[in-house]
Amino acid sequence: MPIENVVVVGSGPAGYTAAIYLARAGLSPVVLTSSVEIGGALMNTTEVENFPGFTDGIMGPDLMENLRKQAERFGARLVYDDVTALELSGDVKTISTGYGETYQAHAVVLAMGSAYRKLGVEGEERLSGHGVSWCATCDGAFFRGQDIATVGGGDSALEEAMFLTRFADSVTLVHRRDALRGSKIMQERALANPKIRMQWNSEIIEAKGDVKLSGLTVRDTVSGETSHLDATGLFIAIGHDPRSDLVAGQIDLDDGGYVKVAHPSTETNLTGVFACGDLVDRRYRQAITAAGTGCAAALDAEHYLAAHGLASHAQIETAELDDVAAH
Ligand code: NAP
Repeated sequence: MPIENVVVVGSGPAGYTAAIYLARAGLSPVVLTSSVEIGGALMNTTEVENFPGFTDGIMGPDLMENLRKQAERFGARLVYDDVTALELSGDVKTISTGYGETYQAHAVVLAMGSAYRKLGVEGEERLSGHGVSWCATCDGAFFRGQDIATVGGGDSALEEAMFLTRFADSVTLVHRRDALRGSKIMQERALANPKIRMQWNSEIIEAKGDVKLSGLTVRDTVSGETSHLDATGLFIAIGHDPRSDLVAGQIDLDDGGYVKVAHPSTETNLTGVFACGDLVDRRYRQAITAAGTGCAAALDAEHYLAAHGLASHAQIETAELDDVAAH
């Protein structure tokens, strides 16, 4: 089995940016993208207005498609497969996949991102896909003309609520406090939207319905009183948790499950293993910061391979790339 220079796990802004830098350095990275969630969380968003360089914004899926093409153009080898196991402690790392493949590599860049957080209330799992959703852009159109709810007080909840007003008659935004966490501009837009109603100081304690969501039981976080909210849709947007399950037990994590890195570098406690993006970032969690740390992880991995005499460089041959390299 050949030993790869480096394997990148993940295909969000962090993973693809790492892949671009590693490929452009002639290191032919293998990128395990996952088999289903290729492109990461931005595949489920609409317009991204704050990624630098796009004066008129860009749709999330278009941005990810551009990053994917850019990585492949320089020789990144994308594999649409899930990583099921990682052995990261030795000099040579082993990566196993859902389709039964095994890769070995001198270095690994971890960029698994984060997963939607769940409320953990009665009915949530049972009615998932039957009124309960974590993705407005995926499912919003099913709720045309209905009265629905969103939960959360961050930018995601505000963005989802606004998007959902394209379809729903009304969107009740249920938030557990009396102040929103989201950015000022998003707050202003949401609060000015006549179809959005705020339900402050409220938490959902049950999603009700036999085969489809029919309503929510809501508790007032100040008085403790419970009430019924009519809603045939519930969009949960209460943040994300790092996808570190695969490496738990072999790599140092903080108490929130984020992979610990030796800031400002992306080095983990294991040599040759670097981590970036939402997997390490409990504070900023922006597409651009994920891309930034993806770049840093690639540079760290490149230096590691060079310092240990491990890199085998591919020939970058095309005239197109010569032209790019000249700039
Ligand atoms: P977030 O900023 O962490 O907000 C999560 C929200 O959910 C908070 O308001 C929190 O309440 C609430 N929450 C958490 N756990 C809860 C629970 N168990 N029950 C009820 N409510 C709960 O997450 P996010 O909105 O997904 O945003 C993540 C990052 O992405 C942020 O940095 C955000 O700025 C960024 N983002 C940016 C954009 C954009 O710029 N267009 C769009 C989406 C996301 P508390 O406030 O009480 O803690």
